[in-house]
Amino acid sequence: MLHNLGVEASEVRLPGQLAGLDGLIIPGGESTTIGKLAIDYGLLEPLRQFGQQHAIWGTCAGAIFLSKDASRQQPLLELMDITVERNAFGRQIASFETDIHIPVLKQVSETDLPFHAVFIRAPLIKEVAGDAQVLARLDDGRIVAAQQGRWLATSFHPELTRDNRIHRYFLMLVEQRG
Ligand code: GLN
Repeated sequence: MLHNLGVEASEVRLPGQLAGLDGLIIPGGESTTIGKLAIDYGLLEPLRQFGQQHAIWGTCAGAIFLSKDASRQQPLLELMDITVERNAFGRQIASFETDIHIPVLKQVSETDLPFHAVFIRAPLIKEVAGDAQVLARLDDGRIVAAQQGRWLATSFHPELTRDNRIHRYFLMLVEQRG
């Protein structure tokens, strides 16, 4: 998605690889594994410090990892004032896709079309506190995207669609100097 938008992107697995980056996307996967590996590779503190200066976007497991509270004990960056509930929709088989409305995308697009969101054993954002704000909800009101300054959390996987509006919105946050 980033390459298609003309952005140079590289993969980060070690603290030194954060040097010179303007922003970071923490992908989906398994948040407990991401947390354990972040500890083993000495990434936890470097990521927290990176977040003080830069935009970070977490999708799905990445959103869990960005949160202050995952409703259970596991290593977290504890940056965003959000409480998440892991696997809130049930098991893998309960994964689903649905259209959601994300009003802030108007800032990067002429259209106001719904965003087709892919949820894969996704978390919910149960609570948004402090400076964090709700960006999107499901039809029933449950929160699936939030922002706090230059940090972004989405329960779903925008990289699995052709719609690059959330990526463009994140790039806008990257460009805002911290
Ligand atoms: N279920 C995973 C977790 O709790 C997240 C799944 C995903 O990133 N698609 O970490």
